[in-house]
Amino acid sequence: MAQTTSKAHCYFCGKLLTKTGAKRHLLTHAYEGDKAQKCCLVKVDSPYLKDYWIYVEIPLTSNLEKLDEFLRCIWLECCGHMSAFYAARYEDISMNCKIANIPIGSVLGYEYDFGSTTELTVSFVGYTARKRQQKAVRLLARNEAKQFQCCICGKPAKELCCDCMYELDNPFFCESCAQSHYEKEEHFMLPVVNSPRMGECGYEGKLDRYEFEPNKLYNKQQQ
Ligand SMILES: [Zn+2]
Ligand SMILES: [Zn+2]
Ligand SMILES: [Zn+2]
Ligand SMILES: [Zn+2]
Repeated sequence: MAQTTSKAHCYFCGKLLTKTGAKRHLLTHAYEGDKAQKCCLVKVDSPYLKDYWIYVEIPLTSNLEKLDEFLRCIWLECCGHMSAFYAARYEDISMNCKIANIPIGSVLGYEYDFGSTTELTVSFVGYTARKRQQKAVRLLARNEAKQFQCCICGKPAKELCCDCMYELDNPFFCESCAQSHYEKEEHFMLPVVNSPRMGECGYEGKLDRYEFEPNKLYNKQQQ
């Protein structure tokens, strides 16, 4: 399968990272002072849509439920569907499983919504450390949002048509062309979002407040 060319900003220093170089770079930001909180560095991506990938850190004392909550916020939540982590096909792992009990090198499957399912791959890639944080899961890098062009006029797309998704090569529309398409066809439209769940069920990205902001680098806040 083709690898991605999508890049991601480092949330510590702002540097633009490739998917393959991100792990090594992010580990250089590990906190080395006293009372560090030991964490696992975790990569989450989509097995099919390779352009969508994030790196997060999560304390060893935390559990998979916290990771599930975070994934719902940044990428998934539409109507409170069920979700699960898997060690191998159909062998689920409890949401209570402690991060400390998952060996580095483990790759788990994850599914959100067992109807129109979004599948993710969760890789536990290394140990890191940070100053104690209130929030369990902290985002360290996220792919830059893909740009799509309106199929009618070529302007930046804001919506996609769920009814045309499998028929048109380009089901994306700018705001005004989306309006006309909707009025003419009465088709179901959803917003363009930076998520592998774009266009599924009723996903609109309402809980996603994690876009990269250059003026909010963690290094400036002394991590
Ligand atoms: Zn950095
Ligand atoms: Zn839904
Ligand atoms: Zn247009
Ligand atoms: Zn349509």
